[in-house]
Amino acid sequence: MTNLRDLPSVEKLLGAADHLIREFGRPLTLDAIRTTLDEARARFTTQPEAGLPSMSDILAQARSHLTAWTSPTLLPVINATGVILHTNLGRAPLSNATIQAMNAVAAHYSTLEYDLEKGQRGSRFAHAETVLQKLTGAEAAVIVNNNASAVLLVLSALANKKRVVISRSQLVEIGGGFRVPEVMKQSGAKLVEIGTTNKVRLSDYQSALEESTALVMRAHRSNFKIVGFTEEPELKEIVDVAHKANVIVVDDLGSGALLDTAQYGFVHEPTVQESLAAGVDLVCFSGDKLLGGPQAGIILGRRDLIDRIKKHPLARAVRADKTCLAGITATLLHYLRNEAEREIPIWRMMSLTPEQVKIRAEAWREVLGVGDVIKSESTAGGGSLPDESVSTFVLALTVKSPDKFLKKLREANPPVIARTESDRVLLDPRTVLDDELFLAVLKKVLHAYR
Ligand SMILES: *Cc1c(COP(=O)(O)O)cnc(C)c1O
Repeated sequence: MTNLRDLPSVEKLLGAADHLIREFGRPLTLDAIRTTLDEARARFTTQPEAGLPSMSDILAQARSHLTAWTSPTLLPVINATGVILHTNLGRAPLSNATIQAMNAVAAHYSTLEYDLEKGQRGSRFAHAETVLQKLTGAEAAVIVNNNASAVLLVLSALANKKRVVISRSQLVEIGGGFRVPEVMKQSGAKLVEIGTTNKVRLSDYQSALEESTALVMRAHRSNFKIVGFTEEPELKEIVDVAHKANVIVVDDLGSGALLDTAQYGFVHEPTVQESLAAGVDLVCFSGDKLLGGPQAGIILGRRDLIDRIKKHPLARAVRADKTCLAGITATLLHYLRNEAEREIPIWRMMSLTPEQVKIRAEAWREVLGVGDVIKSESTAGGGSLPDESVSTFVLALTVKSPDKFLKKLREANPPVIARTESDRVLLDPRTVLDDELFLAVLKKVLHAYR
């Protein structure tokens, strides 16, 4: 009669597990062997007729636990969706210079808070500031962890327990649970909502400013559009009214374009330079949306306000890390050198003409021997340019089950993320960074699917 005592001992299994110990270390291997033995005992108790696993069965099962426990879940994927700033896929892929700069400070000690000239303590806030001043003409700048924390920090430092005026048409949820009104409340600011969902007039601002107010906030609607019977004053007009009442204006731009998206056939996204030219006191935006850099929040504008922001205790809690500061600086330098369109991947993708994309889609069809090249749309995504798209060409595959095929693509190495439309799988070259790798993966998936 088989008996639970016939299971090999932990010591005996460990003695035969040198290969696993070398690869995964002794403590984790021990854990995996124990887990596997527990499972074997539990199974034997409920189904004794199935018998006991052999030594090699147990070691194989332990290996599969070890592999599962040590496999990262954050993995590179190929984005064939045509959504350039895909929030779920990590927004902006970085330029080579940006990756190199981040690598260098990650691998070495750095001047993060060290002034080389003076040989003493320096400020981490100094790093990207000069480049940002040069690029935008702003007096001062500070970089934090992301734009959500930038908004929180600005309001906490400048409007705690004070009135902040904002139009109801801008009280939006950006995605991932970032709700403008909730973040504003979190800062301790007293929200003063003006206008209606579709209309806000200059007179609404004027009446709200009759009471003592800390600031007027404008938030970019980012992922959503109000159309039809609408009205909103120009930023310049809001600034004039606010400044007459001695109230500062903060513009949460969201995506923070430094280049004009209209030149590539997208709708015009408000730029950082335009906000500053309209006279706003502070602008804030993300590092990883239309700027095309690593995750960060950038706050720009009047030096006296930036100084107050830097001194607020929250500034320490939401400060940017050294790799972020190195990466943002390297990305910004592409703009300063007028090479952004060539060097920053998202601008390279934005600037591709439909004809250039078509040539690649046709080359894909040639190599893969399947599908049709058809007209479609690519979108900017990432809470910028809502509802707007540019013409593109995609390789459309007709397969038995589009959903099953999408799943096979996701299971590939590296995974490929695509979309379906009218029962076809669409693959957009615009957002694919490496055609050779993409085609190698596709060939395998197609081969296995047939
Ligand atoms: C995206 C966005 C944010 C949040 O920025 P993160 O960098 O994702 O934290 C805040 N405000 C607006 C208007 C946005 O579009």
